[in-house]
Amino acid sequence: MRKVQVILKVAERCNIACDYCYYFFGGDESYKKRPPYLTSEVAAEIAEYLRQGAIDLNLVQLDIVFHGGEPLMIGKERFDEYCQLFRSAIGPVTDLHLSTQTNGMLIDEGWVALFAKHGVAVGISLDGTAEINDKHRIDKRGRGTHARVVKGLEALKSGYANGSGVEPAILTVMNPAADQREVLGHFYHELGVTSIGFLLPDTSYARGLGDGARAAEVGRALNEMIEFLHKNPGVKLREIDEFYAHFQEFKAPEQRAVAAGGPGEIRNQIVVIQSDGTLAIDDSYMPTGKWRADAPVRSMRDIGFADWLDQPIYHEIRAAQDTLPDECQECVWAKICRGGDLENRFSEARGFNNPSIYCEALQVMYASACVHLVKHGYPKERVLAKLASEPNLSAA
Ligand code: SF4
Repeated sequence: MRKVQVILKVAERCNIACDYCYYFFGGDESYKKRPPYLTSEVAAEIAEYLRQGAIDLNLVQLDIVFHGGEPLMIGKERFDEYCQLFRSAIGPVTDLHLSTQTNGMLIDEGWVALFAKHGVAVGISLDGTAEINDKHRIDKRGRGTHARVVKGLEALKSGYANGSGVEPAILTVMNPAADQREVLGHFYHELGVTSIGFLLPDTSYARGLGDGARAAEVGRALNEMIEFLHKNPGVKLREIDEFYAHFQEFKAPEQRAVAAGGPGEIRNQIVVIQSDGTLAIDDSYMPTGKWRADAPVRSMRDIGFADWLDQPIYHEIRAAQDTLPDECQECVWAKICRGGDLENRFSEARGFNNPSIYCEALQVMYASACVHLVKHGYPKERVLAKLASEPNLSAA
C-alpha cells in the first residue's frame, strides 16, 4: 500500500490558545520565522511538487490535511483556490483525499458550502462538555471555546442534513480525569455526532504519565469508552473500531502480504509541509524532545518528495514501526498493539525500544474488548487464534 499523508500547514497561527498545545507552547518557536499563512505562489509550488511525488512514488492514495495552527484562518477565498489547485494538479495522478482538522470556531454556511464543493472531510477538535472542554481549550483571553465551536458544528450538521455538506467528525484529546461516558454521551446524544476519534494526551515513555494513579485512570477511561460503545452501537469510535477490525474476516497469508507490501515499502507515512515549503516529520513526535528537534528539515526546493521519504529518519521510523520493543515480545496483545504509538515508546536511552507508556491502560482496554466479544458469542479459541495472527491490514 503506497499511501502518504501530507499535513499541510496552511496557517501557522491560531485564533485560540489551548494550554496543552505542543505546536505553539512546546518550546519550538520556529513557526515565528515562517509566513503566518500559505501564499498562492507557494501553494502552486506544493501542488506541482506533490503531483510529481505521487507519480515518482506510484502512490495509490495521497491525503492532504489542511492543518495549522487554525487552518480556516487562511480565509474562504484561498481555501477555495487551494482545493481547486490540488484537485486539478494531483487528482489525475492519484486518489486524492482532502480533509481539514479545525477548532471549528470560524465555520459558517459559507465554509460548509466550500467543504461540500471540494469534498473536504472535516474533523472538529472538541474535548467534551463545556466544563471539560473549557479547562484547556481556551481563547487568548482565557475564555472557554465550547459554545463557539458548537455553533460551527451546528452549521456543518445542518449542511449535512440538507444534503449539501460532509458528515462532521469530532477529534478529542482524552482527559483521563473525566468520565468518558459523559464525554461521548455529550458528542453523540447532545451534539448528534456519530464519528469520533480520540488521542491520548501527548507524552513519551521518558516523560511518563505523572504518577501511577494516572495510568490506572487512563485504563479506567478507556474502559468507559468501550462500555459506551457497546451500549451505543451507532457510534463510530475510530481507534476502538480498528481493534475490532482485527477480529473480522480472516485473510489468507498471501493476501496479507500484498496488503502489507514488501520490505522497505512506503506505507502510511506522514510528511509535514510548512507554510514556506519546508518539509518536516510529523508533529506527533514532539514529545520525543531532542530526537524530534534534531530531525532534518529541508526545503522542498532542495529535495524531491520521493527522496525526502527515503531520508534516514523515515527508515528509522519504518524500522521502529516494524520492530516490537524487547519488553513486548511475549505480550499476548503484541500483534495488535505493536507496542503502541511510536512517540509513546520513546526515551533518550533506548530510542523506541520501550513498551508504550500507556501499556497498562491499553492492556485493560484490550482485555475488556475481548471479554465483550466472548460474551457476545465470538468463540474464545478464535479470539486466541486472532491474537496470535497478523493484523488484518486491509481492514485497517
Ligand atoms: S500492551 Fe504493552 S507490552 Fe503489550 S505490545 Fe502493547 S505496549 Fe507492548
